[in-house]
Amino acid sequence: MQDDNKLVFPGDLLGAEEEFLSGKGTFEKNGKIYSKSVGYFSLDRSNHSATVTGQASFPAFQRTGDVVFGSVVLIRDKMVMIDLIESRGGRKRKVPNFVTAILRISDIDRRYVDSAKKEFGVADIVKVKIKDLNEYTVDLTTAFPDLGVVKGYCPRCRHEMQRDKRDPSKLKCAYCGKLDSRKVSADYGNVCI
Ligand SMILES: [Zn+2]
Repeated sequence: MQDDNKLVFPGDLLGAEEEFLSGKGTFEKNGKIYSKSVGYFSLDRSNHSATVTGQASFPAFQRTGDVVFGSVVLIRDKMVMIDLIESRGGRKRKVPNFVTAILRISDIDRRYVDSAKKEFGVADIVKVKIKDLNEYTVDLTTAFPDLGVVKGYCPRCRHEMQRDKRDPSKLKCAYCGKLDSRKVSADYGNVCI
């Protein structure tokens, strides 16, 4: 179990379900409890639940329904973590990294998605819509045709990939020939960021 008031990050293991319940700012998976936001861990002894509380402030441009760009930082089977990028007037900067944006597997596409790892690559640039915003987390969706990967990188040689002409749901590396599946945005290749 983590110490009270310890700073924790999304995906950090907090403890097991036998120790306490999953409370605010946490999630449970396979009997283990993880943090879903950046914040401070504490154990609420009155109802024996683990909570993570943090203070995140959001730039004014981020509101529910906003379409923004981001860069993929971590991919698990069931979720993708994305650093949002503020892009205005050609300049770009990362939104302060205490804002955690999460794309859950059920929000990737309207079709059935088996693993988020088949839909995104680390460092891909993505176009996402903010689905929900609260003090703990920013939840994203890419379940629209114009949302998803707008620039993808080859997992083998890191070159930028192009949309495959035969199968538009795949990206192809012109350099090494690697084919990789992605949740591709209709804007793929047309976004300057
Ligand atoms: Zn390649």
